[in-house]
Amino acid sequence: GEDGDYKGKSQFFTHLKKSEANSDFARNKTMSEQRRFLPVYEVRDELLQVIRENQVVIVVGETGSGKTTQMTQYLHEDGYTDVGMVGCTQPRRVAAMSVAKRVSEEMGGELGQEVGYAIRFEDCTSENTVIKYMTDGVLLRETLREGDLDNYSAIIMDEAHERSLNTDVLFGILRQVVARRRDFHLVVTSATLDSKKFADFFGGVPVFNIPGRTFPVEVMFSKTPQEDYVEAAVKQAIAVHLGHPEGDILIFMTGQEEIEATCFSLQERIDHLGEKVPPLLILPIYSQLPSDLQAKIFDKAPEGSRKCIVSTNIAETSLTVDGILYVIDTGYCKMKVYNPKMGMDALQVFPESQAAANQRSGRAGRTGPGTCWRLFTETAFRQELLAVSVPEIQRTNLGNVVLLLKSLNVDNLLDFGFMDPPPKENLVNSMFQLWALGALDNTGALTPIGRKMVEFPLDPPLAKMLLVGAELGCADEVLVIVSMLSVPSAFFRPPDRAEESDAAREKFFVPESDHLTMLHMYQQWKKNGYRADWCSDHFLQAKVLRKAKEVRQQLADIMEQQKIPIRSAGSDWDTVRKAICAAYFHNAAKLKGIGEYVNCRTGIPCFLHPSSALYGLGYTPDYIIYHELVYTTKEYMQCVTAVEPEWLAEFGPMFFSIKENHSSRLDARAKQKAAKLAMESEMGVAAAAAAKARAE
Ligand code: ADP
Ligand code: MG
Repeated sequence: GEDGDYKGKSQFFTHLKKSEANSDFARNKTMSEQRRFLPVYEVRDELLQVIRENQVVIVVGETGSGKTTQMTQYLHEDGYTDVGMVGCTQPRRVAAMSVAKRVSEEMGGELGQEVGYAIRFEDCTSENTVIKYMTDGVLLRETLREGDLDNYSAIIMDEAHERSLNTDVLFGILRQVVARRRDFHLVVTSATLDSKKFADFFGGVPVFNIPGRTFPVEVMFSKTPQEDYVEAAVKQAIAVHLGHPEGDILIFMTGQEEIEATCFSLQERIDHLGEKVPPLLILPIYSQLPSDLQAKIFDKAPEGSRKCIVSTNIAETSLTVDGILYVIDTGYCKMKVYNPKMGMDALQVFPESQAAANQRSGRAGRTGPGTCWRLFTETAFRQELLAVSVPEIQRTNLGNVVLLLKSLNVDNLLDFGFMDPPPKENLVNSMFQLWALGALDNTGALTPIGRKMVEFPLDPPLAKMLLVGAELGCADEVLVIVSMLSVPSAFFRPPDRAEESDAAREKFFVPESDHLTMLHMYQQWKKNGYRADWCSDHFLQAKVLRKAKEVRQQLADIMEQQKIPIRSAGSDWDTVRKAICAAYFHNAAKLKGIGEYVNCRTGIPCFLHPSSALYGLGYTPDYIIYHELVYTTKEYMQCVTAVEPEWLAEFGPMFFSIKENHSSRLDARAKQKAAKLAMESEMGVAAAAAAKARAE
């Protein structure tokens, strides 16, 4: 086989017959038998007792031990739901949906009734809901309305080891709820052993360990660095399929595009091998995949075949699929990281941490001894990977968090009870950006517009776009644009009909704007009665557009509650571009060469993305703003709109003035510097005052 390219690491591995070890109990056992088989079941009563006797408990258990699916049900069975809901937070939307579905099946009900879930823009709960799974972001927003979380008798903060931004903020907020409400119970779960830190944070609370039940995993490192890990992973998966006993395969990739490429290439090769080869069921999973397709990863492969799941790091700890004996790990993951040079967040591919690599390989040893192929060298593992990942709060833009905490009247952000406070620099930058958007005033306090922005479950610039749109009389159009920006791209491009689909896409192009292109497409869809067949004729995904319509409705409802008028600008789309500019002037770029722009504030080169209408039509206006940057071979601007330089000066006077000369640039710099200093000193003064108050 192709194992010759890898060398083994663990010596203790013995060549058990894998088909024996891979007990297919799930195929034969009833759901309640499966529940009783989970490690957490053996300690159920002790666990409930510890929770009864302590307001806060940290629970540690290997991935797959039953923490997420069982503990909510145990609390329900123990009577917690008689007085309120049991909530369970997840850092990932896919996990919240998938786990809720599983638990509602285990309880024999319909999803959305007794067991439900809520993620941003999607609330699948009812009055009957007693167990509610949700993203940590949803619970965080609930604390805005209901500071003491009175609807809940208990919250399980799941996957705390992930240290997602929202979970980290919830840590601070829930610690206050625990102090105020004696009848409230909090369970924090972690798949790793960093539990001591969590226990200390809550003042030395008990840590409950669920004894694990895992099998050895042989780890194979690549002898040489891999140039193309998609290709290497495909090759390895084929080798496993042809040369290894039965057992499913799990491949870790960083994101949707790679996953699709991997699946496509795997399928092609399997087809090429013909009928001599047993069937391989290839199943992708990533967050934007429709949920019915996501659920397929849990289906058992038919007798005589094998399944191969190709996943983002969602399958690292959030979701457990039984029967995996082979893991192929590319060694990379996508992370959102604040790039101070660009002054914004960007999703970038990074090497995973050693801890993550070990989590990934562990996925092969749940139902029997397994094997993990790492597509990187052992030297790289030791010398290049960080021991653990950097918590999100220390690496991303904190705009949303700052807005939220300010509206919870946390005036001094540095004094908020963070487990690991964000670097002051990050806080100051985020405050500066909110100040530039007009959400904070010179003293760092929320402005009236900032207060309105908090009401929307959107990133601050998008909320600003809606509010300016309302002022300019084009909220109707901006609502559509914001909704389209909140869902995945609606275009699909089947590899075998690429040209045809590109031609269909071009029909919607509005020369000066990708934002307006989206608006145009949506309006055409509406004109055609929101029909699904119209969508497929135009290579559009009806599901995505329907989702955008739902999002639009929810945002419109919030505007109505806030008594913000929704008017249409009719055919005056210049006004719409102006509203877009008002929210994204910080992402302005100026034409430098053919298709080449430079960021107006930083001078960093950036390029029109080939999917852009401007690129497609070869239109290169002098000034544009972009929605976000993506890094692939170079820095591409995603979703671009042409703007007038006067608008930049009108909305972003701290950055731009109409006549760009030396003194006006100096002037703008001085203004920015003064604002940053004001933010810093505001925080310094507040911190000193708080310290003084504590001392007294
Ligand atoms: P933990 O949270 O400790 O990692 P979970 O509660 O997520 O563990 O998983 C317990 C078991 O439930 C696993 O064996 C997993 O395979 C199974 N499971 C979870 N979700 C589903 C699902 N949607 N379909 C089938 N099995 C599932
Ligand atoms: Mg879990």
